[in-house]
Amino acid sequence: MSHFHKYDRPQLGRTVSVPVLIVGAGVIGTAVACELTARGVACTVIDERDAGGRATQASAGMLAPYVEGHENGPLLDLGIRSLALYDEWVARLTRDAGLDVEYRRVGTLEIALDADHAAQLRATSARDAGVTRTWLDPADARARHPALGSIAGALFTPTHGYVAARQLTAAQAAAAVKGGAAFHRTRATRIERGGDVLRVITSTGALTARSVVLAAGAWGSDIDVAGSSIPPLRPVRGQLLHLGWRGHPIETIIWGPECYIVPRTDGSLLVGATVEDVGFDERATAAGVRDLLDAACDLLPGGWGATFLSVNVGLRPAAPDDLPVLGPDERMPGLIHASGHYRNGVLLAPLTARLIADWIVDEKRDPAFAVLHPNRFFRGV
Ligand SMILES: Cc1cc2nc3c(=O)[nH]c(=O)nc-3n(C[C@H](O)[C@H](O)[C@H](O)COP(=O)(O)OP(=O)(O)OC[C@H]3O[C@@H](n4cnc5c(N)ncnc54)[C@H](O)[C@@H]3O)c2cc1C
Repeated sequence: MSHFHKYDRPQLGRTVSVPVLIVGAGVIGTAVACELTARGVACTVIDERDAGGRATQASAGMLAPYVEGHENGPLLDLGIRSLALYDEWVARLTRDAGLDVEYRRVGTLEIALDADHAAQLRATSARDAGVTRTWLDPADARARHPALGSIAGALFTPTHGYVAARQLTAAQAAAAVKGGAAFHRTRATRIERGGDVLRVITSTGALTARSVVLAAGAWGSDIDVAGSSIPPLRPVRGQLLHLGWRGHPIETIIWGPECYIVPRTDGSLLVGATVEDVGFDERATAAGVRDLLDAACDLLPGGWGATFLSVNVGLRPAAPDDLPVLGPDERMPGLIHASGHYRNGVLLAPLTARLIADWIVDEKRDPAFAVLHPNRFFRGV
């Protein structure tokens, strides 16, 4: 059964007015739609594909701010804030949408394969005071996780976890529809001002809205915005393997130097991910699959006996500073950006939805907008 929400397919063909228009039905656009409808705001979502059909469908869905945010202050703060919303977010979604969402806080085990990396991980854990993290020496780690190969130690962070990104997105879309949101399959080509509303030209007609949320992922920069400039987002390809696993059960997310491994409840494993600058090319490659298999089997030698189920590919949306692009566009009142989530769109979806809804409903400007605002790339222009 497909988890994707099915669209209605009206031919717009004329100008239709809506209160809030969301461009893009990935994990970000559907999260914003879900939050807005929960607050009683009618919204319309447009996408040329099924919900979650682009970067989101390839995501491993890890929720691991202390790993992803090692080097990055704002990203770590955002990740911690969003992770804190997750229990309630998933509970609300499953209740409102009536769909199951696989979500588990199984922790991450960061693996050091040599002494230098072990020392680095121990230093990191000492720096993150106040966070419960446990250092495991090699014997201890392998006693707890017998599938591991030879390692130099491991850092366990119990608060981390994962969510099934496609199921999450399907549930967000379904909850939004139950709350009154409409989904149309069409492509936005241009956004322009039309009096006190914004006019969005699409491949099937025009829509006007007081607020337009741009959540078009890596493709956002393709949309022509009259009177403003879209931040220069670039696509970063990621390949993700799905393997059938028959060895000792894997109880936690394993994060090695060259790949990570996410254990799903059906016993299968996700192995990700490549990070490739190859433009808008969504194809899987032999080299990508080989590199991920090599890296996974360095961590789990039994991996060579796994069955190969599939490879998924997505283009992550990345801004020049690799931080999200969030908040109102000062040059184009009514236009709100929600993109550039790069490697952490699933983790950051609940927080993004809350901050964007706070702005649309109450004009509440979260302090994070001061760092993440879309106009940061155009100072002095
Ligand atoms: C291999 C891989 C693994 C990942 N693992 C993780 C992870 O473990 N944890 C995590 O948090 N994140 C992870 N990510 C990152 C995460 O998937 C992305 O950050 C997230 O999916 C971005 O969501 P989005 O909604 O912005 O973009 P997308 O999912 O790409 O959605 C954008 C949508 O906009 C639509 N669109 C584009 N242009 C237009 C237009 N002109 N008109 C109408 N619609 C348009 C597209 O069709 C698409 O549906 C991973 C990504 C990849 C590729």
